[in-house]
Amino acid sequence: MCGIVGYIGNQQATPVILEGLKKLEYRGYDSAGICTIVNGNAAMARSEGKLINLERLLAATPLPGSIGIGHTRWATHGRPSQINAHPHKAGAIIVVHNGIIENYLPLREQLKGLGHTFKSETDTEVISHLIEERLKSGLGFEAAVRAALSDVRGAYAVCVLCEREPGVLIAAKQGSPMVVGIGSEE
Ligand code: GLU
Repeated sequence: MCGIVGYIGNQQATPVILEGLKKLEYRGYDSAGICTIVNGNAAMARSEGKLINLERLLAATPLPGSIGIGHTRWATHGRPSQINAHPHKAGAIIVVHNGIIENYLPLREQLKGLGHTFKSETDTEVISHLIEERLKSGLGFEAAVRAALSDVRGAYAVCVLCEREPGVLIAAKQGSPMVVGIGSEE
């Protein structure tokens, strides 16, 4: 049970995401993390423990950008640690995830066989690698997310960013709750 937040609009993303994460912190306080896209590159901050640790990190090194995703974690696969903190990045793809990917072990082995290197112990990281693999096979960002999610089993809500499409935020869910808020140009 984690909390995920995504923002795209005309405000700075980090303060909006942090506010959302504070409201969701009861859903998990093993670690927290945020990723924004700045000039086509992912800018990431992740910290073990409560959200306050991430806030301290961001106070020292702010993350600019008007698109971003964030996560507060209750670990299900992989111990609470900075390396297992979301977001998880593979190539150009960055993912935050609430839920469990039941078939992550066979998918992980399959992706390793295709040359992917995993940095964390989480089930979540297969999602980012799977999407990256579909991108490499020539699909666009949205089609790659759809194709990857058709291969995973389990309950999930995800927010996904792609460095190659810095104006697009994709959210998807199956069996997990998700709320979409729409404002003026955000
Ligand atoms: N399964 C993911 C992890 O352990 C997400 C955690 C959750 O939603 O509880 O990192």
